[in-house]
Amino acid sequence: MRPAVATISSHSALQIMKGAKTEGLETVLLCLKGREGLYERFGLADKVITISAVEDLMKKEVQRRLIGENAVLVPHGTLISGGGLEEFEREFEPRVFGNRFIFRWEYDRVLKDRLLLEAGVNVPKRIASPGEIKGPVIVKLPGAEGGRGYFIADSPQDYAKKMKAVRGRGLLRDGEEEDVFIQEYIIGVSLYPHYFFSPLTGKVELLGCDRRYETSVDGIGRISAKDQLEIGLTPTFRVIGNSPLVLRESLLMDIFRDGEGFVEASKRLVKPGAIGPYCLEMICDESGKLYTFEFSGRIVAGTNLFVNGSPYSDLIYDEPMSMGRRIAREIRKAAESGEMDRITT
Ligand code: AMP
Repeated sequence: MRPAVATISSHSALQIMKGAKTEGLETVLLCLKGREGLYERFGLADKVITISAVEDLMKKEVQRRLIGENAVLVPHGTLISGGGLEEFEREFEPRVFGNRFIFRWEYDRVLKDRLLLEAGVNVPKRIASPGEIKGPVIVKLPGAEGGRGYFIADSPQDYAKKMKAVRGRGLLRDGEEEDVFIQEYIIGVSLYPHYFFSPLTGKVELLGCDRRYETSVDGIGRISAKDQLEIGLTPTFRVIGNSPLVLRESLLMDIFRDGEGFVEASKRLVKPGAIGPYCLEMICDESGKLYTFEFSGRIVAGTNLFVNGSPYSDLIYDEPMSMGRRIAREIRKAAESGEMDRITT
């Protein structure tokens, strides 16, 4: 029986299902209640299992149905943001495409830094406490989805003042301050390369690249410096969307070096290592040096730009190859050669 591709109804589900169908695989949509109509419009789900919340994935009945469909779950950002990852690692019985043990490393900022340092990439310095702020830093609130409430500070006093404002807006609760993550702020432009590591070929592929469009930081340039000063603007980093990016070709050497370093490090620290899609979230400074401040150990939403392939995937494949389709192809090939254990956990 051919494997089916299952995913949760959000984030990059449409792209994942489209890719699966193009590769001739059946799709199973774990559909959050109320969203059935949306997904029906696109007609990409062969089977629908209705769930009330992401956590329902853990229900025995849901797991049993997935196993019955011979489904491989393709995880995306919605699964990671839900928490409960240890239980997922231990108790979720259906096959998961990729390395299910890496999601906890993505979720936890300290583990995340450890893996990036092991990868040998440049990571912006972590500042241990507000008293040690000497230059521009970015302050990341615990669990802040999409960069909401992040701010820049350049001294302990500035930090204290802005933290008070953050508390006033209800973005940080008592007792959470210990989990605030303070990091050196890198001045430059952001870029998010979309990698795919295939255990079947042993190769890292670059399938696309995007940048995020963040409010208010990306809009501040529309206001003159004089006005910015007068109104006391503080940039914030809430993600609103993504735009495609093609990189200067000479940067690609470093992009591959870092991408491959990540795979090697993950093999050492999070066995069996990265499998399938991942993304390094980078800033390139004025000297062309790349800094990686985050990673995603699964498909990122920026790949939704390239449902029909990207300038990079076109260089490798003579057919439109989205990340969703690349995932499905790996599943199909592994099923054909009896190597499912190499691409799933
Ligand atoms: P994150 O939640 O870590 O993905 O960060 C949200 C946004 O903040 C990023 O997309 C960047 O625009 C910005 N950012 C995060 N870390 C840094 C850093 N160390 N230096 C400069 N900008 C950063």
